[in-house]
Order: sequence, then structure tokens, then C-alpha cells
Amino acid sequence: MSTFDAEVVVIGTGTVGGFVARELVRAGIDVIAIDKDAPAHENSSHGGQTRMFRTAYSRRCAVVPLLRRARALWLRLQDELGVTLFVPSGALLVGHRDADSTAETLRSAHAHDLPARQLDIDEARNRWPFSSQSATTMWPFWDEAAGCCAPTPR
Ligand SMILES: Cc1cc2nc3c(=O)[nH]c(=O)nc-3n(C[C@H](O)[C@H](O)[C@H](O)COP(=O)(O)OP(=O)(O)OC[C@H]3O[C@@H](n4cnc5c(N)ncnc54)[C@H](O)[C@@H]3O)c2cc1C
Repeated sequence: MSTFDAEVVVIGTGTVGGFVARELVRAGIDVIAIDKDAPAHENSSHGGQTRMFRTAYSRRCAVVPLLRRARALWLRLQDELGVTLFVPSGALLVGHRDADSTAETLRSAHAHDLPARQLDIDEARNRWPFSSQSATTMWPFWDEAAGCCAPTPR
């Protein structure tokens, strides 16, 4: 049986564990990372081809500074690896005008000075020609710093 020695063992190399292991290595720490499956497998939360990345949140606005940092780290990682990981597409969020989450998202965006703004319904429709019977109650919101994580070779 092989024996390994390290300062830190990371168990589970999914989204969080994978990043943690990489950052520890960057900090000069000797790391072993273990997973029950081969990297990039489909059997856990990170499996699949894409994940949406938003910056404007309603209830958990305390995470916004962490999201900013995470976004910067995704961008740095893709440059290091020479692949596209983060596609900075922005995101259109559509909610109900009177919902609490709508006001909270807007408050959070302002509080954190995010490049996000409420859209006029006509502006939204011109840009994305979707249809809805309830245009008077719709609340389109543009999250400029959002995107998706979609690994693709450059
Ligand atoms: C269908 C779906 C859609 C989602 N969409 C989004 C989205 O659009 N945007 C977004 O931000 N989030 C999304 N999420 C959530 C996001 O994918 C997860 O929050 C994130 O991947 C969790 O990361 P994690 O490192 O905690 O877990 P995981 O990425 O699941 O990693 C856990 C790792 O631990 C390993 N492991 C488990 N048990 C053991 C063991 N006993 N020994 C060794 N290794 C073990 C697993 O194999 C796995 O590799 C989505 C999740 C799902 C399921």
C-alpha cells in the first residue's frame, strides 16, 4: 500500500474542494486531494456542463463580497489554464414586481454598488423578445457581472 504525507488533506475535489486545494498549493502548502470519483465526474453537484453565476441576490446579500472575489478567481484560473471557464454574459432576472425578493435584490445591488439595474419592460422585450401576459407585473432586472461557468477550450 502506498503512503502519502502532506500538511493538508482535502477530501472531495468538487467546486469547493478543488478550489481550496489549488489555493493551498498556490500558498506553498503541501496538499493531497482525494475524491471518490475521477475529476470532473457527473455524480455530484458540480457535474454537468454549465452553472449560472449571479452577483445580485435577494436574501443572501452578505455573500456579495464573496461572489466578487469568486468571480475574480474564476477569471484568474481560466487565464492560468488557458481555457474559457467563465462566460461573462450578464443575466436577465425576471420576477414579480411586488415580490419582497424583487425589492431586496435591488437593495442589495445598490448596497454593494453592483453593475446591475432594473430594466424598463420595453427595453427588456426589445433586447430579449420574450412574451408574457403579465407585463404589468413583471420586473426585469439586468445583472451585468453575472455569467455562466462553461469550460471550453480557447
Ligand atoms: C442540477 C444542479 C444545478 C445547479 N445549478 C447551479 C447554478 O446554476 N449556479 C450555482 O452557483 N450553483 C448551482 N448548483 C449548485 C452547485 O453546483 C453546488 O453548490 C456546488 O457544486 C457545490 O460544491 P461542493 O464542492 O460543495 O460539492 P461538489 O461539487 O458536489 O463536490 C463534492 C465532491 O466530494 C466528493 N465526495 C463526496 N463524498 C466523498 C467521500 N466520501 N470521499 C471522497 N470524496 C467524496 C464528490 O465526488 C465530489 O467530487 C447546482 C447544483 C445542481 C445539482
